[in-house]
Amino acid sequence: MIPPLPLSHSAPLAVVAALFGACVGSFLNVVAWRLPRQESVVLPRSHCPRCGAQLRWFENLPLLSWLLQAGRCRHCHAAIAVRYPLVELLTAGLWVAATLARPSAMGPDPHPLLLLLAGWLLLSWLIPLTLVDLDQLWLPEPLCRLGLLLGLASTAVLGLGQGIELGRLLLLHHLLAAALGLLGFEAVSALAERIIGRPALGLGDAKLAALLGAWLGLTGLGLSVVLAVFSGAVVGLVGRISGRLGRHQPFPFGPFLTAGGAAVWLLGNDAWSALLGRLF
Ligand SMILES: [Zn+2]
Repeated sequence: MIPPLPLSHSAPLAVVAALFGACVGSFLNVVAWRLPRQESVVLPRSHCPRCGAQLRWFENLPLLSWLLQAGRCRHCHAAIAVRYPLVELLTAGLWVAATLARPSAMGPDPHPLLLLLAGWLLLSWLIPLTLVDLDQLWLPEPLCRLGLLLGLASTAVLGLGQGIELGRLLLLHHLLAAALGLLGFEAVSALAERIIGRPALGLGDAKLAALLGAWLGLTGLGLSVVLAVFSGAVVGLVGRISGRLGRHQPFPFGPFLTAGGAAVWLLGNDAWSALLGRLF
C-alpha cells in the first residue's frame, strides 16, 4: 500500500481547489472558444457571442451566473450552452481529484505541493485540447508544444528535488517517452493510411502523445494509449450502431487520449496496470 500524501484528506484544500478549479475552467472555456478563431485569450473581456454585450463581473461567475440567469444572456436572452458550466464543473472536479491523486510518473518521493501544482497544470492543459479537438477535429500545435515543454520542466523540477541522479534519469526517461510517443503515432498513422487508403489518425494526435509522454513517462503513456484505444473503440462502436456516426465519418481521438492521460495521472500506473491486467 502507498501511504497517503500529507496533503490528502484536507477539506479546506478541497474547497480551495474546487473554487480555483471552477475559475480556471471559466478561463479554459474562453481559450477553447478563442484559440481556433485566432483571438487573444486575454483581451477583450468576455462578451456575449450573439449580442456582443460585455459581461459584468457578476455575469461571469463560474457556474453561478449560468444558474442564476437560467442559462440565458441577460441582455439578448440568447441561450448559453450548458457546456460552459459543465466545463467549469469538470475542471473543479479534476482540481479536487488532483488533491487526492497518486501519480507515479514523477519518482518515488516528489514534493507533495509541487506535485499537486503540476497535476493542476496538466489536467487544466488537457481541457482546451479536448474541447478544440471535439469542436474542430484539430489539436492546436502551440498548445501541444508548450504543454510538452511544461511536462519536461515539471519532470525536471520534481525529479531534481529527489536528487541529481534521479532527476537526470527521470528527465531522460520522459524525453524518451515524448520522442517515442511522437514517432510511434506517426508510424502507426502512416501505416494505417497505407493500408486503408485514408488518414486514420490526425497529425495532432502524435503531438498530444508526445505531450503525454513528457508528463507521464513511457509506462504512463502506454497505459493512456491503451485506455484511449479501448474507450475510443467502445464509443465508436456505439456511435456507429446507434447511427449517430456515419460509416466513414471521422471522430476525434484526442479527447480519448487526454482522458486516458488524466486517468493515469490521477490513479497512477500500478492501479491501471492491475485493473487492465484483470480485464485482459
Ligand atoms: Zn447577449
